[in-house]
Amino acid sequence: MIDMLTEAGVSIRSGARVVDAVMRLDSTGPRISAVRVLGDKRWTVGKVYVDATYEGSLMKLSGVTYTFGREASTQYNEPSAGRLPVPNTTEATGWIHGDIWHCAFKELINPYVDASNTTLIPGVTGTSLPPVGSADGMVGSLDWRLTMCSMTNEQNVIPIPAPSQYNPAQYELVRRVLHAGWNPTGALLPRFTLPGNKSDWKMLAGGDSLAELVGPVAAEYANATWERQLQIYSEYKQYTLGLLHFFKTDPSVPTHVQRSMQEWGLCRDEYNRSGHWPGQLYVREALRMVSDVVLTEHDVVATEFQNKSDVIGLGAYTVDVPGPAQRVVVHGRVVNEGSIKVPYFCDPKVSPYALPYAIMTPREGEASNLLVPVAVSASHIGFNSIRMEPQWMILGSAAGMAAAMAVQSNHTVRDIPIVALQAKLRAGGQTLDL
Ligand SMILES: Cc1cc2nc3c(=O)[nH]c(=O)nc-3n(C[C@H](O)[C@H](O)[C@H](O)COP(=O)(O)OP(=O)(O)OC[C@H]3O[C@@H](n4cnc5c(N)ncnc54)[C@H](O)[C@@H]3O)c2cc1C
Repeated sequence: MIDMLTEAGVSIRSGARVVDAVMRLDSTGPRISAVRVLGDKRWTVGKVYVDATYEGSLMKLSGVTYTFGREASTQYNEPSAGRLPVPNTTEATGWIHGDIWHCAFKELINPYVDASNTTLIPGVTGTSLPPVGSADGMVGSLDWRLTMCSMTNEQNVIPIPAPSQYNPAQYELVRRVLHAGWNPTGALLPRFTLPGNKSDWKMLAGGDSLAELVGPVAAEYANATWERQLQIYSEYKQYTLGLLHFFKTDPSVPTHVQRSMQEWGLCRDEYNRSGHWPGQLYVREALRMVSDVVLTEHDVVATEFQNKSDVIGLGAYTVDVPGPAQRVVVHGRVVNEGSIKVPYFCDPKVSPYALPYAIMTPREGEASNLLVPVAVSASHIGFNSIRMEPQWMILGSAAGMAAAMAVQSNHTVRDIPIVALQAKLRAGGQTLDL
């Protein structure tokens, strides 16, 4: 990719965090006139800006309307929006709007530290839930995608560092799930084998999302300051290092599991700018722009394809909130709430849908030279179908072409000739209709 950018004469500044934006009012409304990156006093001036971050950093700095968390099901009349029914309770009876059982605890887990039933064990964050379908600030879990190296590859393996402050009590929930009979071997074994005796790990993906960052802190990340986001990254890294240590050493972990965990380390040749640990959290959803058009469940879970006049590509994926939004107490047991697949995971029959250009452009009267191809204007449910690599590539490619057209023709991003953009996309091989 860097070769392609170099060939096109694009200069790249990496590690440059945009922290400030200056807005200017002209006849087209507010525009971003310059941005500044952390540690640099100079301002960088552009005609058009593309914010391709999950965090919607520049969108937020430029005063564009945004949201985060889950809308109420009444807001856009979406059947699967808002707080979801809790699996294994009467709430779930008759629920037909998607698979909510994906990471439900099958075992009955006591949520309290002791028999006084007053203090919750770590990771369980509440004892009451608002009605099904209510809005809240929750999002699906955050996690890591670790690349691990087998101890047999002595040239490349680095021992997993010990956590800075290990507190085994923090992992009481995992201990109780193990005690209830959960066999973690499948979830802990390398899932995706890579050359060089490496493994791509989505840790505990099959284990009730026990390794994931769930609940209020995951929700807080979305709209937190950058400093707080960095703090959440560090705290969660320490938590995960502790969990790996727990699986290697805790007496509650079966010996064969301890041994299999001891067979893995970090890779010397991976993530070498961030201590061989991913430099970024696996953020599935953070901020979402609210523009004139908001893509919702009705758009992404349609039974029949319906095209849109400003289509810039086609998407197709299950609505997939893989990890739960929260882990709370219902009827005296720990439950995971918020994971959903609509209709169900990787359904090959999912019908394609049109991705409209308007989900990348701010409302009239807001930053008229900004394109937002990641934190797009979509509901929580709509976004969790869009948030996949093929769709990001389609949106990113259209945003790049639209930005060039806006620069060349002196149009605002909303006013570029959409038919000309579609012709360019088609000429480049993009599919815009079925
Ligand atoms: C661990 C993981 C597993 C995934 N698995 C799958 C999968 O199986 N299938 C699938 O389809 N998709 C998957 N995804 C989603 C998909 O891979 C990612 O969404 C995609 O790679 C994101 O690429 P990107 O270039 O759009 O965003 P990123 O790579 O996140 O790039 C955004 C960049 O913006 C930078 N940035 C943020 N804020 C600022 C700022 N203020 N100033 C300047 N720069 C800033 C960030 O540092 C980052 O470099 C996964 C994502 C992750 C992280």
